[in-house]
Parts: sequence; structure tokens; C-alpha cells
Amino acid sequence: MITPVLPTYNRAPIAFVKGQGSWLEAADGRRYLDLGAGIAVNALGHAAPELVAALTEQAGKLWHVSNVYTIPEQERLAALLVDRSFADTVFFTNSGTETAELAIKMARKFHYENGEPERTGFIAFEGAFHGRSTGAIALAGSEKMVKGYGPLMPGFTQLPWGDIDAIRAAITEQTCAVIVEPIQGEGGIRPLPAALLQEIRALCDQTGTLLILDEVQCGMGRTGRLFAHEWSGVTPDIVMVAKGIGGGFPLGAVLATERAAKGMTAGTHGSTYGGNPLACAVGAKVTGIVSDPAFLAEVARKGALLRQGLESLIARHTDIFTELRGDGLMLGLKCVPAPGDVVNAGYKAGLLTVAAADNVLRLLPALNIPDEDITEALNRLDQVAESLKAA
Ligand SMILES: *Cc1c(COP(=O)(O)O)cnc(C)c1O
Repeated sequence: MITPVLPTYNRAPIAFVKGQGSWLEAADGRRYLDLGAGIAVNALGHAAPELVAALTEQAGKLWHVSNVYTIPEQERLAALLVDRSFADTVFFTNSGTETAELAIKMARKFHYENGEPERTGFIAFEGAFHGRSTGAIALAGSEKMVKGYGPLMPGFTQLPWGDIDAIRAAITEQTCAVIVEPIQGEGGIRPLPAALLQEIRALCDQTGTLLILDEVQCGMGRTGRLFAHEWSGVTPDIVMVAKGIGGGFPLGAVLATERAAKGMTAGTHGSTYGGNPLACAVGAKVTGIVSDPAFLAEVARKGALLRQGLESLIARHTDIFTELRGDGLMLGLKCVPAPGDVVNAGYKAGLLTVAAADNVLRLLPALNIPDEDITEALNRLDQVAESLKAA
């Protein structure tokens, strides 16, 4: 018999009842050290006092008004993002998937407005993840996500990850946009080298193609810069943001240059909830904190600390872990066993991690994880590796 909750997830039988910082407590009283952070969502940990204050203060004043009115909290967050990034303008959504939808629409509209309505084709990459809408699954194109959901929206090509020759061959003056994650998340923490991103930018410029970056997972401070693309010096046309920006409150944002957004006039796109006062009050608090250079320097330092510990973990357990990838606090351990088995062994050791494709175990802790919790996480990962050897 089908469960009351549609069974689209393989859920672990653990129910959390409360959280504090990098720790979660289950219904049975057991405490777990959280290196998943809701898949890079709880950027400041659980029940961060600043966010609880921002949320409750706004909750007592005003939850929701329609986007047919001026929303000061939304304007404040948009101005902050514009001030701290390449962007001139921002549209707010409730999720990452919705940012993919708008990015696709905005790019097509851009060429339409330029008198090139035939430029509708997107270049994306194998292993990509952009969300679960019909557009986002067609964009990423993986068999697992699209099977049974045809006919798919046309116009999307997936190239082998990081294959610059394939990009050179595929990109033309008919291409609408290239869309890429600076570090693939679901695909297995696979970073795109800066030189490659620079070359993609140059190819886009030569052909008049827009460059869309999906920073839903790698953005909002995760790599030690506000956005991962900043490391490459590349200026994108459109950036998709979600996950960390709400710190646990559902919120996403599409950041764009004035040029890329030129077709998005009144009536061309909308959302009932996107950018509502509650979400934006929390989002502004998160953004203010994580965009502070001192905070970002701490993310980089903590990332280096975790990385150093993981390198010695790999050296001690070469039969379990073989490779470390990623940047800042977005790290992946390539596993010899199935990563799902490592995640399950983690539950037994009171440690939460997340599996990804390409046999990778993801570590995406809160950006403000205390150093002592990093040390404890490394101890528990050691136990996990030992338990897998014994098995
Ligand atoms: C999670 C994710 C999405 C989709 O976000 P949802 O909020 O689940 O819709 C899109 N792109 C990337 C890179 C993601 O990690």
C-alpha cells in the first residue's frame, strides 16, 4: 500500500526533532554531527540565533504580501546581492528548480529581443543537476531523471564534463546559452578548472552566447568566496542561487546583468511566494553574514582544516577512500565501497554525510562549523572507515 507521503525518496529511518549549530537530535535522543546541512542549505547551522531573531521579528510583523506591491525586505536583499556581486538585478524564487526555469526563459527572451528568436539551444553537461521541473530535467538530461517523463522539452544538449573540445565544436552563433555548475554537486563534487571556465566565457563572447552559472549548491560562501565563479575572475551573465541563501528557509534567486535581463519586463515572469517578506528577511540576514570578507576567510580556513584532516584520513584508509575533491566547505571523498554504505555506517557513528554520483561522499557542513566539531567529525569518519574495513 502506498504511504501517505509519496514514496519518491529512499528515507533513512531517523527523525530529527531539534538542532543546534552542527548538531541534530533524533526522536530517540541520539545526537548526530551534521556534515550535510540539509544538502548545503543550513549555511549557518541549525537554529542560528541571528536567523531565529530575523524570522521571528518578521513573523510578528508581516508574513506575506503579493508581488503586486512593493516589498521593502525584498528590495533590501536584492540591493545587497547587487552590491556584493556581478549582478545588476535579481528575481526571487522559492527553490533552485525555479531558478533554472527563469534562467532558461531569460536567456531565450534575451535573444528574442535581439531579433534572433531562433537562438533557443542550450549547452549543458553530463552529471549536471539543475532541479526536477520538466525544463530542469531536460536541461541536465540524465537517464535517471528523465525516464518515463517524455516528451522532453527540446533544445538541450549535454556534453561530457569539462570537455573543452566538445564545447568548441558544439557552440555556434545559434546557441542560446551555456549552463554549468562551477562545482558539480550531485554529480560528485567535480570542480570545473578556472582555466576552463575562462575559456567557456571566451567562446560565449565570440558567439554571442550567454553564460549561466548554477551556483545553487556551490554559491553563498561555500567555497570561501560569496560565489564560486569569483575564483576564476569570470563574469557570468546569469547566476542561479538557492539552498544556502535562506539558511533553511525556502528561498532562491536569479542574479543577472542588466543586459541579460533586458527582455524581462512587467508581466513576462512572476511568482506568488517568490521574494516574500519572511523569506527575504531571513535571506538578507544570511547574505549579510556570509558575504562579509572576514566570514569568508573563516570558511576558507575551516575548509583547509577539514581538507588537511581528510587527506590524512585517506592516507590511513586507502582501501575505503581514494581521492579528495572540492573547495572550501564543499568537499567530496571518492569511496571504494558504495557511498550509500558509507552514509549508513555514518548513521551508526552519529555522523551525517550525503552521497553523490561518481561514488562520492559529500561533506557540506554549516559554514560556521566550530573547529572542535571538525575534529570530532574527522574522528567519527575514522570510526566509519574502521567499521567498513571490519565489515
Ligand atoms: C539542489 C540543486 C538544484 C535544485 O534546487 P531545488 O531547491 O531542489 O529545486 C539546482 N541546481 C543545483 C546545482 C542544486 O544543487
